[in-house]
Amino acid sequence: MAQFAVIGLGRFGSAASLELMKLGHSVLGVDTSEKLVNKYADQLTHAVIADVTDRRAIDELGLDNYDVVLVAIGADLEASLLCVVHLKSAGVQTIWVKATSRAHHTILSKLGVDRIIHPEEEMGVRVAQALSYPMVNDYISLGNGQFVVEIDVGERLDGTTVEQFLTESQENIHILLIKRKADVHVHPGGSFVMHTKDILVLAGQLDALKTIAPMLS
Ligand code: ADP
Repeated sequence: MAQFAVIGLGRFGSAASLELMKLGHSVLGVDTSEKLVNKYADQLTHAVIADVTDRRAIDELGLDNYDVVLVAIGADLEASLLCVVHLKSAGVQTIWVKATSRAHHTILSKLGVDRIIHPEEEMGVRVAQALSYPMVNDYISLGNGQFVVEIDVGERLDGTTVEQFLTESQENIHILLIKRKADVHVHPGGSFVMHTKDILVLAGQLDALKTIAPMLS
């Protein structure tokens, strides 16, 4: 279980905080707004009213003891940057920051934060990919055009063995696992018979995965 602090409990910060709690982590939420802090007080490990542009607030909160601090201050560029400078000088190990503009991004990268997040752009890309490949439930990009994708087995593949599927596809793809209800079959053998509603987790080049996508519908 990691310890996270989330600065700014607007839509982005509160969604991230609540999800971290769901995933079993400890979360300190910080905001200048008493209303927001009260709103989330019962749902987070701790929720504190503080202004993080004040260096003393950062020391009092002991933010240097957290594994990761996520700065989710939206529109107020000055507050976001000042907070990052304070977190850096307090010795916080890992800092992730939500950026709202190119200028914000440029300054944050000069300050050496660990990850800069552009929620709208990143979500836009994911939505476009989801629209373009509706059969893909989820994916991870591994870089260099390699992806891991999660796909539901449709009727076309019902009763087909892994070997038949791989031979028919004529593509260099790997079946990492097949999930059937609560059972996970890691690296299924060639004789494994697939059924509708199984979930396949495949790895391969995007082009190869695109080619086999119609087989899975
Ligand atoms: P979102 O688009 O995620 O809703 P907002 O800009 O509305 O983004 O939310 C940012 C949050 O950060 C607000 O709740 C605001 O009160 C909080 N915030 C802004 N400045 C500070 C600060 N100096 N210290 C702590 N919280 C701050």
